[in-house]
Amino acid sequence: MNAENFRTLLEIQSLENLVAKHNKTIASETSRITLIEEERSSKETKECLLKKQLEQCKHTASTAEKKLFDYEKSLEKTNEHALLVTSQGQAQAIQKELLKLGEEKNKLEDEILSFIEQQEQLESEIQACQNYLQGSLETLKEIQEEVDKKIFSEKKSIAGLEKRIKSLDEQAPSALKSLFSEANKNYRYRNPIAFLEKGYCNQCHYAANKIKEKAVDLLTSVETCEGCGRLLAPQTAKAAHLRG
Ligand SMILES: [Zn+2]
Repeated sequence: MNAENFRTLLEIQSLENLVAKHNKTIASETSRITLIEEERSSKETKECLLKKQLEQCKHTASTAEKKLFDYEKSLEKTNEHALLVTSQGQAQAIQKELLKLGEEKNKLEDEILSFIEQQEQLESEIQACQNYLQGSLETLKEIQEEVDKKIFSEKKSIAGLEKRIKSLDEQAPSALKSLFSEANKNYRYRNPIAFLEKGYCNQCHYAANKIKEKAVDLLTSVETCEGCGRLLAPQTAKAAHLRG
């Protein structure tokens, strides 16, 4: 075993970290689309709700209008009766009735007016929703194109990196490969290879004992960190890797 054996793995680790960066870009590009889609979906829900409210409002207004028509008929009839009264008592009763009907008619007219205002308000809100949905659909298409292009190029980069990783993996010494792939199961994209810095794992900061530290440095055996399970590489390998 020598430090060179770790170099291949460290290179794989560097390339894997680059893959992770590209994956992060893909995720952030995808989220641009998701965000617009979520906003659109919530607007669609709002539009649907407003339409229901508008239907309800129209229905209530039409009921009130029918009621108003009935009041107007009653008023007409009462006015006709007023012409036929024969006593003071009857005249008073009819006046009272006319007053009452008149008040209710006014009240109903106010209600209908307010329903009309509500309808106008709802219709303008629905229109705003529809304008938004139409505008954002165009934006979505434009951004989707941009995002697709970006993701395509990111995936191409990833494919290139993975090809290099695969070929390096074939060159990796078998003695280290199984421990590396074991550490990679848990720490892929998060540095499966660690170094001991002054006796501490540089990833999880677990303190290694002196015997392990020596074994790692002198490459007498392949060791993993007891704290995190990462494969421990000697400092010499790190220096060689950094030199490139
Ligand atoms: Zn560790």
